[in-house]
Amino acid sequence: MGLSSSKFSIDLKSLPPGFHQRRISARGVGFDLFIWRGSYGPVLVLNGATHGDEYEGPTLLRQWAERWRPPSLSGTVVMIPVLNEAAYYAGLRSAPADDVNLARAFPGKANGSITQRLAHLFDTQVLAQATHYVDLHSAGRAYELLPWTGFISHEATINRTQRKMAACFDAFWGWAGPFLPGRTLSAAYNRRIPAIYVECRGTGDVDPCDLRALDRGLKHLLVALGCVRAKRLTKLRPQTLRTTRDADEAHLQIHHPAPHNGLFVPSVKVGARVRRGATVGLVHALGKLGGSTILAERTGRIVMLRIQRSVRAGDALCTLAPI
Ligand SMILES: [Zn+2]
Repeated sequence: MGLSSSKFSIDLKSLPPGFHQRRISARGVGFDLFIWRGSYGPVLVLNGATHGDEYEGPTLLRQWAERWRPPSLSGTVVMIPVLNEAAYYAGLRSAPADDVNLARAFPGKANGSITQRLAHLFDTQVLAQATHYVDLHSAGRAYELLPWTGFISHEATINRTQRKMAACFDAFWGWAGPFLPGRTLSAAYNRRIPAIYVECRGTGDVDPCDLRALDRGLKHLLVALGCVRAKRLTKLRPQTLRTTRDADEAHLQIHHPAPHNGLFVPSVKVGARVRRGATVGLVHALGKLGGSTILAERTGRIVMLRIQRSVRAGDALCTLAPI
């Protein structure tokens, strides 16, 4: 194992073949990387905890860092279990110091707030060296979702690669949509790096089924990119892929906003199909009897639902997808 040291940057090409642990840090932000360097080939970057209350990605990547010792590897695999350490240690989606969502901060600023500096460090020092990228998300503590994998629609060649990458996570459905600014995937898009994100169930926990699905997905991904040879992997199952041109469709924070502060009582479950106009829940204001009925904005399946009952005005309560 290579020696651990903290540096502003790492030239992946200069690392000798084998396993390395490194830390990149600058201007008060940083993260740990586990790197398998093989022979010539793709540079696959994976990270968890872009949001600090999402634990599936960190758990998967820790497991792989501890156990995965490929006898031969074409390319380089970079695993960052926890990208957003300040948010992670606070157990929150965003770092408390600036409350900036890292998934809206890209490409970041070298001299900006803590989260903007982190975005800049990751974009310039890690993404800049990637040929393929996977960002492992989940619903976090306050939500539950129907796991999916997605990507930003790009030009044909990049899109084909992204579809192939997403198809590896065959336990999950797929969602492709237009460019939205600020994401890790937006930074990858601008660098013309094929990139996908994965959204696991969340609820502040790690569902063992999701972990198995991620593990299988990563094994398939390494084969699909030509990093390792296929070995005893069962064939990929066909994946439902929803492609939309509507940038708002997969923008999770804008759907069914709470009309006021209060207590949210959902009347639907994740995965259920509902018709437009059906009741999805009630928001009770704390000081008044009665409540505001939340009606489905469209016909579709509940793919994300607020499970934290306390809500502030504007908090997204649920997302429906036409699948
Ligand atoms: Zn997330």
